[in-house]
Amino acid sequence: MAYTYDPENIFAKILRGEIPNKTVLETDHSLAFHDIYPQAPTHVLIIPKGPYVTYDHFAAEAADEEIIDYTRTIAKVCEMMEVAEGGFRMISNAGHAGVQEVPHLHVHILAGRPLGRMLQPAG
Ligand code: 5GP
Repeated sequence: MAYTYDPENIFAKILRGEIPNKTVLETDHSLAFHDIYPQAPTHVLIIPKGPYVTYDHFAAEAADEEIIDYTRTIAKVCEMMEVAEGGFRMISNAGHAGVQEVPHLHVHILAGRPLGRMLQPAG
């Protein structure tokens, strides 16, 4: 699969400082910030700084140091948000069927309330 990255997506604009964000953590290769429309008391988005569309794109093509940085950033955010004890959900939507709104890889960390089952039954 060849991925085409749109540099005008909203998270690219956040990374360029063109749109403000409520930063949780910034590292050399990653940025974590609060979702603008939180779906739970804790709702943090974690993105790599590189131009990756989806998690599989990133996992296939990112440099090892980017992958390590991103993975460790997810761990640090979980620790900072204290989500492990009560439980949390980590989601990364991809493409049309995944209803991905922003075409720049992001992981959602959701916590702070019962989150229900992962998926609705197919209708
Ligand atoms: P997706 O559906 O692509 O997995 O999720 C995109 C997420 O980005 C949504 O939860 C949406 O609320 C969030 N979002 C969209 N625009 C902005 C923005 O400008 N700032 C922040 N912080 N979050 C945004």
